Amino acid sequence: MNYKEKYNELYKLLNTDSLTGVFSRHYIDENFEPIIAEASEKGLNANLALFDIDCFKDINDTYGHLAGDSILKETASFLEQLLVFSENDYLARYGGDEFLLLSIDTPQAAFKDKISNCIIALSLHKFHINNNTVTISASAGCAYIEDTDFISALNTADKKLYNAKRAGRNGVEF
Ligand code: GH3
Ligand code: MG
Repeated sequence: MNYKEKYNELYKLLNTDSLTGVFSRHYIDENFEPIIAEASEKGLNANLALFDIDCFKDINDTYGHLAGDSILKETASFLEQLLVFSENDYLARYGGDEFLLLSIDTPQAAFKDKISNCIIALSLHKFHINNNTVTISASAGCAYIEDTDFISALNTADKKLYNAKRAGRNGVEF
């Protein structure tokens, strides 16, 4: 392996979440702020959605950690299919059972529809784990990024996610 190949391999390792294959927390930390800044310079909007699986500890307790891992993987591909339409959509695992979507240049109304539909679709999806059919749900909090930095927008999305949980879960707050 030459230097360039080694570099590419290391870059991929750092920026990919090893369990789910979506972007990693490292990718978020290094890239989301500059991506948003570049969009802002071009006059493009940015939307953020933070997802957290509901009562995921119960899934682990009921079916075991390996089953939990497999549900996390399948949830990531499910979210990817429903949310990543172009190279302007970035889906990452923020940590644990939390996923973060950054969408550049999506009209806000379309973004809202996309997230609401995704939450509904996820709650209807059937996971097949060790001969069991398992359903899950997730909650989400969103932030429209305009004249704010990434960290402030993430804080807003996090507060809204907390409200969606308090409102009974399986829902989204904008
Ligand atoms: P809530 O509805 O409030 O989100 O309840 P919750 O049980 O999902 O609580 P929380 O989001 O705080 O906890 C996430 C749990 O996800 C905690 C941990 O046991 C589990 N978890 C985190 N990372 C992994 C992982 O890589 N694999 C598995 N199987 N479980 C994980
Ligand atoms: Mg959770």
